[in-house]
Parts: sequence; structure tokens; C-alpha cells
Amino acid sequence: MSQLEIRDLWVSIDGEMILKGVNLRVPSGEVHALMGPNGAGKSTLGKVLAGDPEYTVERGEVLLDGENILDLSPDERAKKGLFLAFQYPVEVPGVTIANFLRLALQAKTGQEVSVAEFWQRLQEALKLLDWDESYLTRYLNEGFSGGEKKRNEILQLLVLRPSFAVLDETDSGLDIDALKVVARGVNAMRGPEFGALVITHYQRLLNYIVPDRVHVMVDGRVVTSGGPELALELENRGYDWVKELAKEAR
Ligand code: ADP
Ligand code: MG
Ligand code: MG
Repeated sequence: MSQLEIRDLWVSIDGEMILKGVNLRVPSGEVHALMGPNGAGKSTLGKVLAGDPEYTVERGEVLLDGENILDLSPDERAKKGLFLAFQYPVEVPGVTIANFLRLALQAKTGQEVSVAEFWQRLQEALKLLDWDESYLTRYLNEGFSGGEKKRNEILQLLVLRPSFAVLDETDSGLDIDALKVVARGVNAMRGPEFGALVITHYQRLLNYIVPDRVHVMVDGRVVTSGGPELALELENRGYDWVKELAKEAR
């Protein structure tokens, strides 16, 4: 069975330590949520998983099926089956969505994907997202609204069918429709061969994606974990009590 495991991860930027010993394990077949107050380091963790060169890994490992991926390029990570939605946030003029997806799929699988297979995946995904085929001929993210970018991200998820996905929904300011699109995509992927870490500040998204586990990060560490009820508790009680937990643990 495959899993994504983060072991004692310490990360700094500009000499300032942001992640201070993160431990987290997401087994295949499960969807985990990472929550926490603003500034806790959630997005930093997402970016480090994506291989953002701005951050310095001081210590620790990120193991995908037991193999440390921290020395791999973002593309190599994708080949190992990791999906990082924020890996391609840029506008790519001149590359249509359909072409981008086909190239990304070929890069990921390392071989030619038959046109028939590709189109079948695409059609299924479009149907699930209730998205018109005409979007496929638009250029990647060019002139896309926030909601369309999100839908495009989830389209990628559904076509690439990675074994692990890391999605950061913290700062996106999405409306309910866009959140539902994310949820539909993640829920469609759910199964024994798929695991996900969904990063989110608000409980709202977790009404649509019911997580198997919830982890709470405060000040660069996971301070507590629990079942889906933990997200509801955070919604009701706020984050002050977990901040106290973090202080006590120090
Ligand atoms: P969260 O996603 O939990 O809100 P972040 O990972 O965005 O938290 O930020 C964690 C801390 O790291 C914050 O104090 C933030 O100011 C700092 N930080 C994150 N990215 C940078 C950066 N590129 N340069 C300087 N500080 C950063
Ligand atoms: Mg933030
Ligand atoms: Mg964030």
C-alpha cells in the first residue's frame, strides 16, 4: 500500500524557521484535511511538497511510498504520482487546455497515451464538472476567473489520476460553487488507490469533502489530529484552544 509521509520536517525562508518538525502520514485510500490558523505554515508545507525552490528544507523527509522526494524536481514528483494543483498556476499563452492536459499526462506516465484513452478521460471529467467542451480550446488560465482556474485544476486532477493529491484551498476566496467543484473532483477520485491532503482554513469545504482525518497545524507543527468531528469543533470553538495546546507542548 502506498502512502505520503512527512517526517520531522523543518523548513526556513530568509533565515526564519517556518515549519518546526512537521509529522504527518496520509495512507492511500484516505483523504486528510490540514487546518490551522492563519500563518501556521499550511501553505508553506504545500509549497515545499510542490518543490518550491524559495524554501530551504533544514531537516526531515517527505516520503512517497518510502522514497524521499525532497531532492526530486516538481516534474519528477509528478511522475511518482504526486499531484500539486498549484504547480502550474501561471497563464500559458498559446497552449490550449486540451494540449496541456495531453502533454501533462504523457509526461506523468512517461509514454504515449492513446488519443482514445485521453479523450475518454477528458469527456468523463468534463461531464462530472459540468463543463462545456469549448473550454478545452481556451488557452491555459488566460483570462480565467478564480472559479474557472479552480475547475481547470480539478480537470487536471481527474485526467491525470495521480496517486496522491495536495490541494491548498486556503487563500482562494472561492464561492460555494467552486468549493463544490473541488469536492466533486476529490470525491470522484476517492478509492483505495488514491490519497489526498486538503489544506484549508475554513471548515466549510469539509462539509462537501468529509475527511477521514483532520490535522491541526499551529506555529509550524501538527499539534493535534482527529476524525472529521475535529473540523466541526474548530468551527465552533475557534483556534484559541489549539494554540494553547501548542504552547503546552513546548
Ligand atoms: P498559512 O498557510 O498557514 O496561513 P503560511 O505558510 O502562508 O501560513 O505562512 C507561515 C508563515 O511563514 C507566516 O508567518 C508567513 O509570513 C511566513 N512566510 C510564508 N511564506 C513566506 C515568504 N515567501 N517570505 C517570508 N515569509 C513567508
Ligand atoms: Mg495564510
Ligand atoms: Mg495558506
